[in-house]
Amino acid sequence: MLQLFILLIVLGVMMRLAKSGKTLGLLSMSSFIVGKGSQSHSSASCSKLQMSTLVDTNPLLRPKNVLPNYADITPEHVEPAVTSELEKMKKEFSNLEQILDNPQKGEPWQSRRIEYDYAMVVEALEKIGFPLSHSWGIVNHLMGVKNSDELRAAHEKLQKPVIEAFQSLSQSAPVFKALTALKQRQSVWSELDVAQKRIVESAIRRMENSGVGLEGVEKEKFNQLQLEAADLSTKFSNNVLDSTKAFKMEITDPKDVEGLPDSAKAMFAAKAKEDGAEGATAEAGPWTITLDAPAYIATMYHIKNRDLREKLYRAFVTRASVGDKDNAPLIKRILQIRKEMCTILGYSCHADKSLASKMAGSVKEVEDLTEMLWQKAYPAAQKELAELREFAASQGFNGDLQLWDVAYYGERLREQRYEFSEEELKPYFALPNVLEGLFGLANRLFGIRIEKADGETQVWNNDVQYFKIFDDKTGDFLASFYLDAYSRPADKRGGAWMDAERGASKVLDMKPVAYLTCNGSPPVGDKPSLMTFREVETLFHEFGHGLQHMLTRVPHGDAAGINNVEWDAVELPSQFMENWCYDKPTVDKFAKHYETGEPLPIELFNKIKAAKNFQSGMGMIRQLFFGAMDMYIHSDKYDPNGDRTVFDVQHELAKKYTVIPPLPEDRFLNAFGHIFSGGYSAGYYSYKWAEVMSADAFGAFEEAGLDNEEAVKEIGMRFRNTVLSKGGGEHPSDVYKAFRGRDPSPEALLRHSGLSDE
Ligand code: ZN
Repeated sequence: MLQLFILLIVLGVMMRLAKSGKTLGLLSMSSFIVGKGSQSHSSASCSKLQMSTLVDTNPLLRPKNVLPNYADITPEHVEPAVTSELEKMKKEFSNLEQILDNPQKGEPWQSRRIEYDYAMVVEALEKIGFPLSHSWGIVNHLMGVKNSDELRAAHEKLQKPVIEAFQSLSQSAPVFKALTALKQRQSVWSELDVAQKRIVESAIRRMENSGVGLEGVEKEKFNQLQLEAADLSTKFSNNVLDSTKAFKMEITDPKDVEGLPDSAKAMFAAKAKEDGAEGATAEAGPWTITLDAPAYIATMYHIKNRDLREKLYRAFVTRASVGDKDNAPLIKRILQIRKEMCTILGYSCHADKSLASKMAGSVKEVEDLTEMLWQKAYPAAQKELAELREFAASQGFNGDLQLWDVAYYGERLREQRYEFSEEELKPYFALPNVLEGLFGLANRLFGIRIEKADGETQVWNNDVQYFKIFDDKTGDFLASFYLDAYSRPADKRGGAWMDAERGASKVLDMKPVAYLTCNGSPPVGDKPSLMTFREVETLFHEFGHGLQHMLTRVPHGDAAGINNVEWDAVELPSQFMENWCYDKPTVDKFAKHYETGEPLPIELFNKIKAAKNFQSGMGMIRQLFFGAMDMYIHSDKYDPNGDRTVFDVQHELAKKYTVIPPLPEDRFLNAFGHIFSGGYSAGYYSYKWAEVMSADAFGAFEEAGLDNEEAVKEIGMRFRNTVLSKGGGEHPSDVYKAFRGRDPSPEALLRHSGLSDE
């Protein structure tokens, strides 16, 4: 999945940056994952005659220099448009391969006389890949915001051929040879700018890592291992899903659901009903509790019955660990394969391979940061636990606080200290006010003007707004974006994300366009959309990704905006923007009661701010623990062929990283999909890495004084001219240094989390 994701990026297919719930989803390219097989659905196929008509007038095939007519696109347009773009791309690509393979007809590649140049290879690929990736991007966007059975059927049918076509681009030997030749020819190479060099170098590295440069037996072995790894990772996540699904706890006694909020009771009654208990109601039961995240969280946080919590906890931490659903042998084999593939590619361990394309320079750098954060977070976590024990005792709890008690008493303590209801807050966060505040902040910090441009282009739903961004000083038009702010459960996916409609590119003559998608409550009658604080924060977050996408000044598509930004640096602008939600003067500009205009009461604001750092020590060491385990088992400290199991490593590291050790039978790793079936292997640390930078970047403003208007403007412009402008065109360490004048320091993150000594 990671490789696929990367190749789509290099070919101009944009990444989607999502944030939902409490976890930051760094990169979610789920739409591109091949899965479920691809049956054909007659509803989405067309006869030949229809096909040609649909190609001529197809809104998905409009000229690429205009925005699509979203309102006109229907599922029927998908297959003919995508098929036609797909065929075109294949043909053009095969022509390109011929040219690259043999620049002088009849002569072998090695003795060519014509030098490859950048335009001939990289720009040619950008032009060839764009039409299909753009149309397919629109289809994927509509899958998220205007889903239907017909659209899904068309998508499912086309997904495999589209992915295969892009895959063949990424594994093309002629392209690889041409890219390598570009780098080797001093005369050509010295003419390229930094961004162009980075594009070529990362493309070579990605292709190398996918095995293109290998030959003979090695190649065969590598391909075999790659297939086996893909298969194992699918099995891994299926086992987690299956074992999660297999567990059920049926409850009939109302005493046993005491403490649960009504919404959770309703969820559990609905589940019982689904399983055949026809008369199940939220109030009277029966209730069925499962192991999926919302059910697990609700139970661990709220249910009074301690035995039930224990039972659920034990089931949760031993998912995928028995019989034919046991992931332990799969983990062993996955790690062996990763090790072997790395050896073939010339890396000493999987961690080195992972870090070769990240901002962090070495395993040691990641370990040093982890250690520094641990030093501060661990004592805080111990203190938090002691506090929690004391609090639990004050609530009548006897005995030792166990793992299944921590969340429950933690939640009671949080309620006692910082309780405020979302309902109380919402009237202060009307979407139009929040947008005005956000755009005002962008103007103040980055010198840009954002204007409403509704009606200038078609949208997929009447609620969608369209905006244009101008440079405040020069008046130049820079970019535009769609904002799809409200939830539509019937056809729109939950969560929030930023996606690229198209990116900046000189050769394609394009300015960036972004989709910002949220799931707020729609306006009712003459009441505007009222947001929760979390939703406000999320909007700022996605807008931060959007800014990096839209304010880029890199003219080369493959490194413009969020493209080619190292994985561990991509959350910098987004998390940076979140910081402003805790800056009182910024919040005061937009947090006004929508009816009375009265400002958000200071007590409420202080509670929000304090609640942010509740148990931040325990939260921090938990993340550090996951990151440390991930790095350890992928580094050369661990031998996947030896006797020591990953669970041995888990329990050893737990001595350092936990305040209550895991149960001996804990098999958390068996369900750690991020690193065994997602793209985070030897990369889980990225969450903290980016957080350090985003906090430190905000620290630059704090040091100068958030009320020092002149300094704020100056630093804001520097942020725009570095982080937001240079995107993936320069190494993130250089970009960051250009902004901050030094390397990132974890001090600000510790201070913001309430973990510094001051
Ligand atoms: Zn994000």
